[in-house]
Amino acid sequence: MTATSSGSLRHRRVPLVHGPTPLVKRPALDLLLGGADLWIKRDDCTGGAEAGNKVRKLEFLLAEAQDQGADTLVTCGALQSNHARATALVGAQLGMKATLLLRVKDGRGGDGLTTAAAGSLPPVGNLLLDRMVGADVRLVTPAVYGRRAEVMEHVAQSLRARGRRPYVIPEGGSSGLGALGYVAAMEEVRQQLDAGRAGGPSFDVVVHACGSGGTAAGVALGAALHRVAPRVVAAAVCDDAAYFQKTIARLVAEARALEPSLPEPCALQVDDSAKGPAYGVMAPEQRRFLMEVARASGVLLDPVYTGKAFEVVRNLATAPSQQGPRLRVLFLHTGGLPGLLAEGPSLEDALP
Ligand SMILES: *Cc1c(COP(=O)(O)O)cnc(C)c1O
Repeated sequence: MTATSSGSLRHRRVPLVHGPTPLVKRPALDLLLGGADLWIKRDDCTGGAEAGNKVRKLEFLLAEAQDQGADTLVTCGALQSNHARATALVGAQLGMKATLLLRVKDGRGGDGLTTAAAGSLPPVGNLLLDRMVGADVRLVTPAVYGRRAEVMEHVAQSLRARGRRPYVIPEGGSSGLGALGYVAAMEEVRQQLDAGRAGGPSFDVVVHACGSGGTAAGVALGAALHRVAPRVVAAAVCDDAAYFQKTIARLVAEARALEPSLPEPCALQVDDSAKGPAYGVMAPEQRRFLMEVARASGVLLDPVYTGKAFEVVRNLATAPSQQGPRLRVLFLHTGGLPGLLAEGPSLEDALP
């Protein structure tokens, strides 16, 4: 596998993204948002079944894995983790195995070191894809997941003892190195703006879903470096604003240590107002909004991430304080389709 140069970045990346991903307008959504000037960066189209925001981080992470001679990727996430699925699929494309620690609520979870059978759960959505490419899926309890960094290190040790060469990827691919994927994405947006693809020289704000912080760190750095927007709003889908402000600040510092040419990030606000009842769970009106967007525009949002983030877009665009010129919003569509497809029954009440 060859590597491409990384634009303004020094770190090598494995070319995985089918890019540039489209930057599109859906006029029906401008109407739905009370006249905002909305543009959607289709990072749900960064690839085939592996698509979504995680592929951008994996370009940098897998370059490091290859440089270390790794043959096995170890990572973690929720049972329907998009990140775990992208890691398993991309790993299979590059000839690497994957061990995935997936969090489950009920008593099916184990300690991560022994294989807790994923076969007891229906192979749907991301889990189906994980299993199709032969990932070693280990279900873990929430308590074990709470110690995920330490547990993944133990898993790596036991793989090494068996002669394998593991490479551990933190939750969501969120490290300073992974965040560089979104610095590169903002460079791609800059080129699209320069080519006149979005009716103006820049945006007022970038909005995206936030689950582990790496995307937010990269977008805030990249938006500043490439003058894409003066402001980023990260829509938290779990934890809370204080937790993410801290996590993102750490990731920003890590990324800047890796790439000293990176500037200070632009203004970053974490908005946790659309988190809903729980991670992966939507309130009835959130489900109705997700369906309304789909019917109006053909844009499919998922119930865990993008559906909630798009609500934050609506709240910003229709806020009473939002007067004067139309707010130019870049909504980063980060993917999530396999998770949506796994959730059909829970969305049934909102279907037309
Ligand atoms: C992982 C994920 C996010 C959140 O990105 P982070 O970098 O983990 O904050 C947003 N949307 C989708 C669809 C994701 O899978």
